[in-house]
Amino acid sequence: MRSLFVSHGSPTLIVDDCPARDFLVGLGATIERPTAILCISAHWETEVPTVSAAPHPETIHDFYGFPDPLYRLRYAPPGAPELAARVLELLGESGFSGALDPARGLDHGAWAPLKLVYPDADIPVTQLSIQHQLGPAHHLRVGQALAPLRDEGVLVLASGSLTHNLQEVMTEFRADRPGAPAPAWAREFDQWVDTTITEGRSTELAAYRERAPYAARAHPRDEHLLPLLVAAGVGGARGGRRLHASFTFGSLSMGAFAFPE
Ligand code: ZN
Repeated sequence: MRSLFVSHGSPTLIVDDCPARDFLVGLGATIERPTAILCISAHWETEVPTVSAAPHPETIHDFYGFPDPLYRLRYAPPGAPELAARVLELLGESGFSGALDPARGLDHGAWAPLKLVYPDADIPVTQLSIQHQLGPAHHLRVGQALAPLRDEGVLVLASGSLTHNLQEVMTEFRADRPGAPAPAWAREFDQWVDTTITEGRSTELAAYRERAPYAARAHPRDEHLLPLLVAAGVGGARGGRRLHASFTFGSLSMGAFAFPE
C-alpha cells in the first residue's frame, strides 16, 4: 500500500462542487482495498503520539459557524483497536513512547475525506494524533516507524492542507468570485513542495520552514502540513508523486500526494 496525503480544505468540502471533491470521490477505486485505515489528521494534537482504540468511533463535529446540515453528517465505520495496538508497538520499537485513547472518535479532518473516498464506511478506521510542538522532522520519523504497515494491508491516510492561511482566505476570497485565482505566493509554495517530494528530498521537506518560499505565509502555524511529513515517512522518506492539484477559496491548495512513487 502507498501512504497518502490529502488536503481536506473547508468542512464544506463534502458538499462543495469543486475538483478536489471529485478527486476524493474517485480515489478509492484507484487503490487496492485496505484491510484497515490509519488516519493522521491536523485536528488532533497531543503531547505524545496517541492512537484511538475506540471500537465504534463517534463522528466529531469540530468546526463552528457552518450550515446546520454539516452537523447532521455521520461517518460510522468500525474502529480498529488491533491496528491501534500495532501502531503503538511499532512506535515503541523506534523509541517513541505513545499512548492509547480508549474513546477518541474521528474529527472532520479524518471523516470528511473518508466519507468521500469510502462512503460505505465498511473499512475499520483509527486515528493517530500529531505533536505540533515537536515539528516536521519528528513527524517524518513517526512515519518511518510506521512504514511496516504498508506491507500489512493498512492504508495510512494523512489529512491536512498543502497551504493553510485562513486569514488570507478571509481577506482574499469573495463569495461573488468563486473562481478567485490562487495568488503567486500560494502557487510558489505548492510548487516547491511538489518538486521537493518528486525529487525525493525528504530531509529538505522537513526543513521547509527555512527552505520553502513563503513558508510562514502558507502555514502561519503548521499543524495542517505535519500530516504530510508522516505520510512521506511511511513511504520510506524516498519521495512520492502528485495525485491532485487544485486551489479553492483563492489560496487554499488542495494538493494530494502518494508515497513512495
Ligand atoms: Zn483542517
